[in-house]
Amino acid sequence: MSRTVDEWIGQTDDTRAPPRVRARIFDRDNSCHLCGQPIQIGQKWDLDHVKALINGGENRESNLRPSHRKCHVEKTAKDVAEKAKVAAVRKKHLGITAPKQAIRSAGFPKRSKPDRPSKTALPPAQLYAPIQETRR
Ligand SMILES: [Zn+2]
Repeated sequence: MSRTVDEWIGQTDDTRAPPRVRARIFDRDNSCHLCGQPIQIGQKWDLDHVKALINGGENRESNLRPSHRKCHVEKTAKDVAEKAKVAAVRKKHLGITAPKQAIRSAGFPKRSKPDRPSKTALPPAQLYAPIQETRR
């Protein structure tokens, strides 16, 4: 009789589940918990935190399910967006807002002025034409 195994709990949120835990979770359920499709041999798959770590989920075996890499990436993006939304609403409720800045113009393009004439360039054009002597 095999001994009963306590569930794996990561020491920190950054601790990755070791291969034996990965295998155990896969053996328990080898279909993607996000789309429901089975994970085929050779397909890339990840362990997904059902309740995301950034949203208060725990890094433990009972919070991990296999998922396709593609499905996992999509879910992670949604989790991050949810976290950002929650943080923004919370800040608003707490009255924490970004410092107000004076409205600034977009500025002018860097090279709007023509180049200054260099010292070696031609002398400035004469303002007055020399008096031409006219004889009658
Ligand atoms: Zn999937």
